[in-house]
Amino acid sequence: MSSSSDHKLAHIALLPSAGMGHLTPFFRLAALLADNNVKITFITPSPTVSLAESQTLSRFFDSFPEISRKQFHLLPIDYHPSNSEDPFYYHMERICQSSHLLSPLISSLYPPLSALITDMSLASPAISITQALNLPNYVFFTSSAKMSTLFMSFHATIGSKATETDEIEAIKIPGLEAIPRSWIPPPLLQDAKNLLKTYILENGKKMAESSGILVNTFEGIERESLRKLNDGEVIKGLPPVIAIGPLAPCEFEKIQPLAWLDEQPNGSVVYVSFGSRTAMSREQLRELGEGLARSGHRFLWLVKNKKVDREDEEELDQIIGSGLIERLKEKGLVVKYWLNQEDILSHPAVGGFLSHCGWNSVTEAIRNGVRILAWPQHGDQKINADIVEKIGLGTWEKSWGWGEEMVVNGTDIAENIKKMMGNESLRLQAKQIREQARTAVGIDGSSRKALLELIEIWQN
Ligand code: UDP
Ligand code: UDP
Repeated sequence: MSSSSDHKLAHIALLPSAGMGHLTPFFRLAALLADNNVKITFITPSPTVSLAESQTLSRFFDSFPEISRKQFHLLPIDYHPSNSEDPFYYHMERICQSSHLLSPLISSLYPPLSALITDMSLASPAISITQALNLPNYVFFTSSAKMSTLFMSFHATIGSKATETDEIEAIKIPGLEAIPRSWIPPPLLQDAKNLLKTYILENGKKMAESSGILVNTFEGIERESLRKLNDGEVIKGLPPVIAIGPLAPCEFEKIQPLAWLDEQPNGSVVYVSFGSRTAMSREQLRELGEGLARSGHRFLWLVKNKKVDREDEEELDQIIGSGLIERLKEKGLVVKYWLNQEDILSHPAVGGFLSHCGWNSVTEAIRNGVRILAWPQHGDQKINADIVEKIGLGTWEKSWGWGEEMVVNGTDIAENIKKMMGNESLRLQAKQIREQARTAVGIDGSSRKALLELIEIWQN
């Protein structure tokens, strides 16, 4: 740790975006920087969309009294979606539309900031503001480096023949191998204006003007993507793209120990979760329940019935059906409330993870050496699932498509769970990747060194 006597303290403000998948890595980054003698101001757009966000924010500030909180009160939104847009994208749009309020907020901070770190979904408005204030701006990309490649270059690809005709099966994106059309988040290929498309095109383009791009990844799993980004093979003149992960979860994220897991044999449990904001159709949930029952394995299943937790009020019996719930109890535990995923993934009883491949989930599985059966649902998740498969951490049944494209039947799910849990080489490879991850963030590790160099720049 550097001593504050030879350096002036860097002062960094962090501006996260909407949803736990964006907020959580910002908590972890803030904690890591604070631990390395950086003064942190954490800007919180309020209100939040989900209860999970507001509750975790309170616990975060309780456990880090040295981190200052600055509330950023959002204005009512002026956007009229043609159809019902995702509540989280809608909220990101609201943050963007309130962004002119950030300039006085940032200028009022004392001591003056060394830099602002913003979520990629706010890059465009935030970079314009920091440019006017002559303040360095770093973008924290909360998904994979591979996804950042698509994110930053899609504006140059869109409108080309490849994206316009659906006869072309593979789309060539600079810095990536040709990507199957079906891996691109579908809203990006729609003609109609939608929030996700605007969000990726505008922010992706503007990110090239930032001072640096931080990614929660590490050399061991994304060396090629990082090299191409930094060698100008994606976009010429990009700022440095810096791998600083996998970020470690914080103590305060823990909630309560799960006694049920303690009673299960080591490596026997399949953990099933699709993150903080993915709701499956009732039909699909019941097929998934069938699949778990037929897999013959023990399991812990976190059920989500609504995208936004505040609206998720129905009982499990109503959602899954009481007959199936009774059968599921024979071998598993089904819950419908927030559990801390790190508590689960770090438990020795857990031997596999049926995951949507949200990037936080992938990095958490990596840190704990848990193999994955990938079932990407939307957004960046197919790109992430591809990484999972390529590094030998998991399997991905591509015929399952995106979440809402089809209903995957229980027999198929059971077969794939059995295959994943029976795959010894995945289990061993997961342990190896865990070691690489620990090395990357350990003393002299690539991610750790990159972070310390950055802090050094901010201090000077
Ligand atoms: N998470 C959790 N408990 C839950 C659901 C999610 O702790 O019941 C955490 C998970 O560990 C991860 C984050 O919420 O840190 C979800 O982020 P991810 O990128 O995996 O997916 P998203 O929710 O953004 O789709
Ligand atoms: N994104 C991401 N990681 C996240 C959240 C968002 O990379 O944790 C980016 C990514 O470019 C993705 C887009 O934002 O394609 C929207 O995905 P997000 O996970 O926010 O929502 P989804 O559509 O997956 O529910």
